[in-house]
Amino acid sequence: KKNVLIIGAGGVAQVVAHKCAQNNDVLGDIHIASRTLAKCQAMAQSVREKNSLKVPGTVEAHQLDALDVAATKALIEKTGAQIVINVGSPFLNMAVMSACIETGAAYIDTAIHEDPAKVCETPPWYANYEWKRRAECEKAGVTAILGAGFDPGVVNAYAKLAVDDYFDRVDEIDIIDINAGSHGRYFATNFDPEINFREFTGRVWSWQDSKWTENKMFEVRKDWDLPVVGKSQSYLTGHDEVHSISQRLGIPNVRFWMGFGDHYINVFTVLKNLGLLSEHPVRTAEGLEVVPLKVVKAVLPDPASLAPDYTGKTCIGDLVKGVKDGKPREVLIYNVADHKQAYDEVGSQGISYTAGVPAVAAAMLIAGGEWDVGTMANVEDLPPRPFLAVLDRIGLPTWLREGEREERLDFSDSARP
Ligand code: NDP
Repeated sequence: KKNVLIIGAGGVAQVVAHKCAQNNDVLGDIHIASRTLAKCQAMAQSVREKNSLKVPGTVEAHQLDALDVAATKALIEKTGAQIVINVGSPFLNMAVMSACIETGAAYIDTAIHEDPAKVCETPPWYANYEWKRRAECEKAGVTAILGAGFDPGVVNAYAKLAVDDYFDRVDEIDIIDINAGSHGRYFATNFDPEINFREFTGRVWSWQDSKWTENKMFEVRKDWDLPVVGKSQSYLTGHDEVHSISQRLGIPNVRFWMGFGDHYINVFTVLKNLGLLSEHPVRTAEGLEVVPLKVVKAVLPDPASLAPDYTGKTCIGDLVKGVKDGKPREVLIYNVADHKQAYDEVGSQGISYTAGVPAVAAAMLIAGGEWDVGTMANVEDLPPRPFLAVLDRIGLPTWLREGEREERLDFSDSARP
């Protein structure tokens, strides 16, 4: 058993806390820490109320500013945490990683580090911060698993599975992320609007013909006919895993497509063109200084408040093209998740669910040894089958579509943690 410290108390952390509890026979004591103690206490309480603990055990809340490395180190030591799951804001990664390297605790996150002073990070994403610290992790023998959410995360494992089991040569991977759910509000973001809009206000980067290609947001549209969610429109978007998958697996074309409806794009475009997504303060006639984006955030629904009414499904997967036995091949490896089912089980919407469950699967594989590699790794550096086996068991099964054939993949012969 390995004790876990969860950093952050948002939608993803809520899922992580419940899933750690459901697997505390492998994972031991659970500690939850963020700046706001009350949020951590509410999460611990919800774990108790839903009877999520598999075996009797500890769930404790702590107040922590995770940018304070000494305080994070002290909390890791006090709680005896051997695994830290960082699902706080993306500004915390480097500080939390430092605390892990100094204490020897394993580190897991679900998104690349971002500098709050920048509008958005540009490629090469992992090489900007994380990969610079690989030698330090290796020297300290610290396991640091980067980007272990759904995308990045599970989609990286799908890419590795395709390379290992389905192709002799992979030429293209299109990662497709469609949320066909509905929250019933006029306009809302599924995550913190400040973080969410950052993803779409900058330039769009994809890896094509083995080089970075630049586009504008909402410039390149592609429509798909996907399992369960059906016909879906999506736009080329930049995403962390385009970098790591292209580099670590040597694939010449990796693109990321995010689904957006026309209504979302209209509202977003109006907000952006009016300057309401700006992080630069403006002065009103009355002499008040306000940051437009903060005002937009204040009037939009709190993303956590969407979960109880969310219905519908998500479909996220990798469309992989290449060659097998001298013939062209194309497969879609994907998962479908249900918003309402996620809410009933762990109190969060489906997108937080798909991000949080994989981070716990990664923790279980560290506890079980399969992924306790004692160095820094992206998900595609690690064996995918044990990961997909755990995910199948704890709520995120993997499906494969090839031509007319659709099947749920069976990884039960993979080692179990
Ligand atoms: P939220 O914005 O809901 O939560 C972020 C949490 O971080 C808050 O609870 C906040 O705590 C905490 N936090 C911020 N600053 C500090 C600090 N200095 N010290 C301690 N805690 C701090 O985010 P989500 O739950 O939606 O997302 C969490 C992470 O997961 C993000 O990095 C996001 O990018 C990533 N993600 C990854 C996905 C994937 O598939 N790979 C998909 C979705 C999200 P408090 O309020 O108490 O200050």
